[in-house]
Amino acid sequence: MTDQEKIRQAVRLFLEGIGEDPEREGLKDTPDRMARMCSELFRGMDEDAGVHLARTFSSDKSEMVLEKDITFYSMCEHHALPFYGKAHIAYIPDGKVVGLSKLARTVEVFARRLQIQEQITGQIADALMEYMQPKGAIVMLEAEHMCMTMRGIKKPGSQTVTLARRGLFEEDPSLEARFFRLLGR
Ligand code: ZN
Repeated sequence: MTDQEKIRQAVRLFLEGIGEDPEREGLKDTPDRMARMCSELFRGMDEDAGVHLARTFSSDKSEMVLEKDITFYSMCEHHALPFYGKAHIAYIPDGKVVGLSKLARTVEVFARRLQIQEQITGQIADALMEYMQPKGAIVMLEAEHMCMTMRGIKKPGSQTVTLARRGLFEEDPSLEARFFRLLGR
């Protein structure tokens, strides 16, 4: 059975499980639509951050590079509901910089999977350190979790904030302060 067929069968069973009729007109094509949607929502499973981050070019600049407000969408692995928000990434180059679009692509690689927010944050920071070898990197994610807003404790608008620091950002608090200042916090 192909992966797509597994999803289609599972969705049919799911629809029956919630008391629906998978054959009624509005739902007839839903298993197929969801199977196709999954290849977009979870495409990060087949991607490797190294492909994007290894495309560096040399630079003698050692000033902090910040890319902020990168919109991302992910799916929480506990409830399979979306969480989404903004990623902010900064690094201190050590002879190498990367095109800014590659940072956004790196966020996509880790966000387009079943995830937990803390883990994406750490994975982005680790990928930067591994593939670009900067002097330091810091990653902050701010997101709203549908599993907290449409079910459970129901706190619409509440934001979960996660932070990962690597290298110089772990050692020098003034760099972290500068990151927050540049973010406007
Ligand atoms: Zn959840």
